[in-house]
Amino acid sequence: MPEESIKVAVRVRPFNQREKDRSAKLIIKMQGKSTFIIDPKAPQDEPKQFSFDYSYWSHDGFVELPSGILEADNSLSPYASQQRVFDDLGRDVLKNAFDGFNCSLFAYGQTGSGKSYSMIGYGVNHGIVPIICDELFREMQNKKDKSTRYEVSFSMLEIYNEQVRDLLTKEFPKGGLSVRQHPTSGYFYPQGLRILPVGSYNDIELRISEGTENRTIAATNMNATSSRAHTVVTIYFDQIIKMDRSETKKTSVINLVDLAGSERVSNTGATGDRLKESTNINKSLSALGNVISALADISLGTKRKIVIPYRESVLTKLLQNALGGNSKTVMIAALSPADVNYDETLSTLRFADRVKRIKNTVVVNENPIE
Ligand code: ADP
Ligand code: MG
Repeated sequence: MPEESIKVAVRVRPFNQREKDRSAKLIIKMQGKSTFIIDPKAPQDEPKQFSFDYSYWSHDGFVELPSGILEADNSLSPYASQQRVFDDLGRDVLKNAFDGFNCSLFAYGQTGSGKSYSMIGYGVNHGIVPIICDELFREMQNKKDKSTRYEVSFSMLEIYNEQVRDLLTKEFPKGGLSVRQHPTSGYFYPQGLRILPVGSYNDIELRISEGTENRTIAATNMNATSSRAHTVVTIYFDQIIKMDRSETKKTSVINLVDLAGSERVSNTGATGDRLKESTNINKSLSALGNVISALADISLGTKRKIVIPYRESVLTKLLQNALGGNSKTVMIAALSPADVNYDETLSTLRFADRVKRIKNTVVVNENPIE
């Protein structure tokens, strides 16, 4: 089922305080799988329509439970909660992991559009990443039988200014970790990245907060904000299955990517570090766009000979397997509901629309252990 290997969802957040204070206008509508965007400069025109695997309305219609969890107020509207997003997308990721597929989940959108809310979450409203990790260990516990052994490990890195930084250590070698190409698989990997075994959901939670803390420290030292970096959390999930006399190993690599803000950074007036930073983000997100377009062309069969430009940026090198290789991919594009963000939101919808056209062929990673 190659068609099913990429799923694309969009999700629109509530107005923030600033938008409320300025009486922002709502320019997004959703109906079933469709998302409509209204041009605030031509509100009488027919809205532009896009269709995705899921269009999540998280703009209004929620109630806050005493625990702090936001849940749909069913009598009012179809608010898509964190649990709903997990049920649709996260459960698939989990199932794929147990079946021995690689999976990747990435969040795209401008700064402040809701990427981190969907991925990691805030407070009690856990995002899809912690829920996946929690459920992974829960299911391992439930499935426990003598013939299967599980091994889980974890890494966390960020890409900032084309440099890879290991977030599980405070050390930062000059120039970052070097990105090498694996001689047999051909895939790129950061050399010397820490991959640490984890034994419980708690372990992962601790590692994520450790990584997030290192990330913030690094950002402050570099006088940057963390929204200018891509963060990649990777879970390596191995199932070692004992047969009569032999063992087989099913492996799954789960990549969880919170991309840097997609807003086109204006270079006007920017100098030094800011200029370098914005050039690099533009470069890696446009490289991501180019890779996605090339993959879409292949899927549509519109062009014969296509070289996929993975080498254009560190981000696309590291995501090669996630995007065009042996991986099931989920993209959540986060949308701002407000009129002031029309241009960025439209460009996010167009990006998500291109991603939707990619089709991958995936195979199970299962090999006998010699
Ligand atoms: P980003 O990571 O894209 O910069 P955030 O995830 O930090 O953006 O979201 C910006 C703000 O919007 C946060 O205060 C967050 O709590 C709120 N928010 C985002 N998505 C939702 C949602 N689906 N439901 C409720 N609040 C949301
Ligand atoms: Mg964020």
